[in-house]
Amino acid sequence: MSRPINARIDLAALRHNHAVAKKYAGDVSLWSVIKANAYGHGALVAATGLRHAADGFALIEIETAIELRELGFNHPMLILEGFYRPDELNLFAEYQLTPVIHSERQIDALIAARLPVRLPIYLKLDSGMHRLGIDANALASCLQRLERSQAVSTVTLMTHFNADEVNGIGEQLVRFNKMIEGLQLPVSIANSAALLRFPEALQCGVLPAQANWARPGIMLYGSSPFPALKSAADLELTPVMTLSSELIAVKALKSGDRVGYGGHFIAPKSMRIGVVACGYGDGYPRHAPTGTPILVGGKRTRTLGRVSMDKICVDLSDDAGDFSPVGAGDTVLLWGGNEKTGLLPADEVAASAGTISYEMFCALANRVSVEVVD
Ligand SMILES: *Cc1c(COP(=O)(O)O)cnc(C)c1O
Repeated sequence: MSRPINARIDLAALRHNHAVAKKYAGDVSLWSVIKANAYGHGALVAATGLRHAADGFALIEIETAIELRELGFNHPMLILEGFYRPDELNLFAEYQLTPVIHSERQIDALIAARLPVRLPIYLKLDSGMHRLGIDANALASCLQRLERSQAVSTVTLMTHFNADEVNGIGEQLVRFNKMIEGLQLPVSIANSAALLRFPEALQCGVLPAQANWARPGIMLYGSSPFPALKSAADLELTPVMTLSSELIAVKALKSGDRVGYGGHFIAPKSMRIGVVACGYGDGYPRHAPTGTPILVGGKRTRTLGRVSMDKICVDLSDDAGDFSPVGAGDTVLLWGGNEKTGLLPADEVAASAGTISYEMFCALANRVSVEVVD
């Protein structure tokens, strides 16, 4: 017998969200971003779900890309931070992986490399996030060196946007367009937020849109990249991960009783509470305060007190709703779901906990059993 907590991964929902991304992308191809174990959903699981739909897969982890190749995935594969040490370039050649090249140090290594085949590369430009990427003043010389290199076949120009901000990508897009002016090269700039909000990011560059690629991640998993502006439902996105568990105890509190570590919640009157088999040891955010939404028996209520490693307490009082038929063994939905089970967008839990659904998905713990449905 195992603990009742379970993460259900719905591959039909993943494909639905991919189809939504396709609709926004038009003629632009899509890298399905499956880094960080597909945002906690399982890289192999997600790649299998998108096997026939994906134009290509983008990820950070070279080992995972190699594993996918060995399982017969012959899609283009983009490695988002490229290589870390020059000797890894042989793996890129052997497994036909496309490195992102973001520094002159990497260009030096590419030029020095003696590879059996030429590699397509993505050249990352810094358009204003000031993390990775080539600066405007170094671009021309970098391109010249890459053109002369024996290790490079094609160059695609990429950048990354801070596109979740209310202000949008305007300034970064202007800067990027200025950097790439006149270059007859394909372009890849749009993450989920840019794909959904800024169609101009798709038409960037001088080549037709068919030459360009976008890189959606979070939207494939059914969350909104800008939940303060539009919900996942507004964007027609469906949760892929449903985290559910059960009540393992129901308690009657008297007025003044304190709940959990620190005793932060104090019962204002006699009330019933439930104890859920889920805590931060499962990946639930510890900073979720009293009041974080949660569904018990399909009905919405709130968490009470601190999240523990293995437990969360929930409000079953009459003020919270009609929970009179609810008892130990009943289903609790932490996030995800659908119309039948009840729906609780991960974005709402994240907003309450002061985080983003990206982080909650990535934090899903190993001890949570995963069920994949196709
Ligand atoms: C993670 C990542 C993405 C995907 O971003 P989302 O916000 O999840 O759509 C796109 N591009 C790069 C370079 C990334 O690292």
